[in-house]
Amino acid sequence: MPQLGLPRIVGTYTNQLTVRLFIASGNVNSDLQFVKASVSRAREILAPYNIGLAVIPAGGMSDKEDIGVFSHNGPLFVDAADAYGRDGTSAPGAMTARTEVGRLISQVPRPPVIVLFGNSTSTRARGYTVENSGYDSFCAISLAGSQSKVTMLHEIGHCANLQHYMACRDITDRTTQDDRDVMAEVTDAKADLRDKFSGMELGLLRGASFMSQLD
Ligand SMILES: [Zn+2]
Repeated sequence: MPQLGLPRIVGTYTNQLTVRLFIASGNVNSDLQFVKASVSRAREILAPYNIGLAVIPAGGMSDKEDIGVFSHNGPLFVDAADAYGRDGTSAPGAMTARTEVGRLISQVPRPPVIVLFGNSTSTRARGYTVENSGYDSFCAISLAGSQSKVTMLHEIGHCANLQHYMACRDITDRTTQDDRDVMAEVTDAKADLRDKFSGMELGLLRGASFMSQLD
């Protein structure tokens, strides 16, 4: 029964991105620590923008289990060429896990974004967002390979329709990427250094379907 070990809601902020967290059943303590660190780092990055991150348990706020568990232990996403032969990612495992957790979650009017922590064999991606699947956009974060505490917030950004090009000072010129932007595509060495959002990105975050306003 995984506990977050952090407050579910830091009540200081009117605007709260709402998330539901799930982890593969084969997880070990260090995996749970990574989930916790990802939540803490996301809150630190969002705080200067007056945005919180609220963790909604699968079964609702009366559920004692902060982090839901799914049994799918295969890779959530893998490296795969796309239809044009370009480097890409495919995520049948994430779909399997998403279907599984769909049976666990209580329905609410503004559904939180779903974040799945599990295995991956990808050597390119630390996380992956599944769009156009029939579900609201949701994301998968790798527990294998190199980890970054900022990956979860980056993928949550994708779920709010933030794009990599928005990390560029000139959005038509990829060479102007600000490596400190959360949506920047960076190497492992720079991944944890990302800590800010552009005005365009903030506008999309504030309008996300999973943004909630607390009094
Ligand atoms: Zn990305």
